[in-house]
Amino acid sequence: MSCIFCDIAAGRVEGRIVYEDEMCIAFADINPVAPVHLLLIPRQHMDNILLAAEKFPEILAHIAQTAPRLAEQFDLADDGFRIVVNTRDNGGQTVNHLHWHIIGGRFMKWPPG
Ligand code: 5GP
Ligand code: ZN
Repeated sequence: MSCIFCDIAAGRVEGRIVYEDEMCIAFADINPVAPVHLLLIPRQHMDNILLAAEKFPEILAHIAQTAPRLAEQFDLADDGFRIVVNTRDNGGQTVNHLHWHIIGGRFMKWPPG
């Protein structure tokens, strides 16, 4: 089964990588919706957060710690930002490798469309 985010994490496909460690990797979204739009993913493939929460709680905890650090590094902390995990069809998930969108640099409305 091919997965574009596994390919980026493994270096088989180019991605503008901004952070990586042993568990996760962050790169720029190819189609940014705001001045800062990062995708933070576990290196290990997992389809969505439902499966991850059950099977890989330590990876989820690590990513939960990493996401706000990245937001700070990209100067989003003072003005604020949004972290989104689209899940399955109703959530608008289009890539079935778990990912956190970290989005900032402009005001965002609520609720989402
Ligand atoms: P989703 O819709 O699943 O929540 O988010 C998938 C995101 O992945 C989208 O924002 C889309 O722009 C981004 N994306 C899809 N393919 C690629 C790719 O090949 N490279 C990068 N950097 N981002 C991608
Ligand atoms: Zn994958």
